[in-house]
Amino acid sequence: AGTVLDGKAIASQIEIELAEEVADFIQNNGDGPTLAAVLVGDDPASAVYVRNKRLACDRVGIESKMHRLPAETGEEELLELIAKLNADEDINGILVQLPLPPQIRSAKILDAVHPLKDVDCFHPENVGLLVQGRPRFLPCTPHGVLQILDRSGISVAGKQCVVVGRSDIVGKPVATLLAAKDSPVGPNCCNGTVTVCHSRTSDLAAITRTADVLVAAIGIPKFIKADMVKPGAVVIDVGINRTETGLCGDVDYEAVREIASAITPVPRGVGPLTVVMLMLNTLTAARLQLT
Ligand code: NAD
Repeated sequence: AGTVLDGKAIASQIEIELAEEVADFIQNNGDGPTLAAVLVGDDPASAVYVRNKRLACDRVGIESKMHRLPAETGEEELLELIAKLNADEDINGILVQLPLPPQIRSAKILDAVHPLKDVDCFHPENVGLLVQGRPRFLPCTPHGVLQILDRSGISVAGKQCVVVGRSDIVGKPVATLLAAKDSPVGPNCCNGTVTVCHSRTSDLAAITRTADVLVAAIGIPKFIKADMVKPGAVVIDVGINRTETGLCGDVDYEAVREIASAITPVPRGVGPLTVVMLMLNTLTAARLQLT
């Protein structure tokens, strides 16, 4: 069976490194990096995500300020809060937990976050910089995928990479980063030959079977079966699906592990990295705002 890539352990290691950098920052600048977390409504999964992010802030020494708004909050009201946080010099990063309630247009809100405080890297300016190969922030989950590869000694350079999923949050930016000429993470996690698959792809299995590195970001439990994976492939499972038997990924883990050379589990895979990368972006934001 393939190596299990322990995302939780990698995330803990990065947290230790980051805590030191945060301590240095505080020593040099007095004030520490501060993250504002905005949670609208009472989606239980969102509440858990925000809680995990705030606990991670505590662990690395980043201050977090919570803004909880009722489910019936209007767009204008939320835009007012964003404007207030944008103008607040004590806030370095702004996290708006998705999904937002249906009466609020997410794009309107995300576009309103100040680009230098956009720690999720959702603002068009930051997405543009990423696509042009001069990123200001790296998006958290895609960055987490790169960190797992890099810190596990897996190179994607010159390899066949297949990303299943084309969302703005995961699939698209992962594909961009893997295909890039350079990477802030390291020379081994760029220069991939990347194919993006999605819900309209025909003969998906024939394409996924070409992958040396397969990234699944679909949102369907156990969608990637063993016969869709090339023996010896590295499999990164971004999926987090709630089922009656608990959390599971987009990959049929037990069966795929038998033929993969390495695989991320769910939970304890990509998820923990996403949270640490948000911490890193908050520190980056605080540094950017010094000048
Ligand atoms: P999404 O729903 O926005 O996108 C899913 C993508 O999968 C779409 O681009 C779609 O084209 C593709 N797809 C759907 N059905 C398909 C099919 N039958 N064949 C091929 N492609 C298909 O989801 P997302 O936001 O990209 O999230 C994907 C998964 O990753 C979810 O399970 C989500 O919970 C998880 N996620 C995890 C983290 C993390 O920190 N680990 C972060 C974000 C999302």
